[in-house]
Amino acid sequence: MKQSQITYWCHEVIRSQAQKNGIYIDATMGNGNDTLFLCELAEGSGEVFAFDIQEKAIEATKELLETNKVSTKYHLILDGHENMNDYVHEAVDVICFNFGYLPGGDHKIATKASTSIVAIEKGLQLLKSGGMMCLCVYSGGDTGFEEKDSILNYLKELAPRQYTVIVNQYFNRGNNPPIPIFIFKK
Ligand code: SAH
Repeated sequence: MKQSQITYWCHEVIRSQAQKNGIYIDATMGNGNDTLFLCELAEGSGEVFAFDIQEKAIEATKELLETNKVSTKYHLILDGHENMNDYVHEAVDVICFNFGYLPGGDHKIATKASTSIVAIEKGLQLLKSGGMMCLCVYSGGDTGFEEKDSILNYLKELAPRQYTVIVNQYFNRGNNPPIPIFIFKK
């Protein structure tokens, strides 16, 4: 059932909520699936900024976008998402995070609690009023629990007057299911 995959679910929510032709950030490029989705949303006058610390992710994403003949203006940036404010200087409509390691890549090169929190913080500052952030959070296995716990603790303290934080749950699934999270900036 395609609809139950976390990334599919996140894309559907973004599609239903986000302005088209906006400014979008893919904070964890990986194999480029979110970047491609955001480029489709931005098609026309929008723009996409995508980040990853691995050359391999940039190459995979570049190939995916070229294969799909994407005409949107995009930037594939080889740097950590914790530095996103060095590259993006305008208010942003949507920011996507898909934490963890590159599927099919080195499990040791993964997002980390400390930099992930800095990136979320900076991302929230960049978001425009009415904008949203989408996070796919993983735990267990090689990923452990530190990042998930840090993110949930951080989000719990966000000012409710400024943000609505929705944490979803795969309620009847064992083995530390992924957690889809949506943050709406008022
Ligand atoms: N776990 C997801 C895929 C995550 S891909 C899934 O199963 O589908 C996560 C990507 O984040 C990896 O390509 C990794 O290189 C990248 N990454 C790790 N640290 C980063 C950082 N500080 N800034 C940006 N990207 C980072």
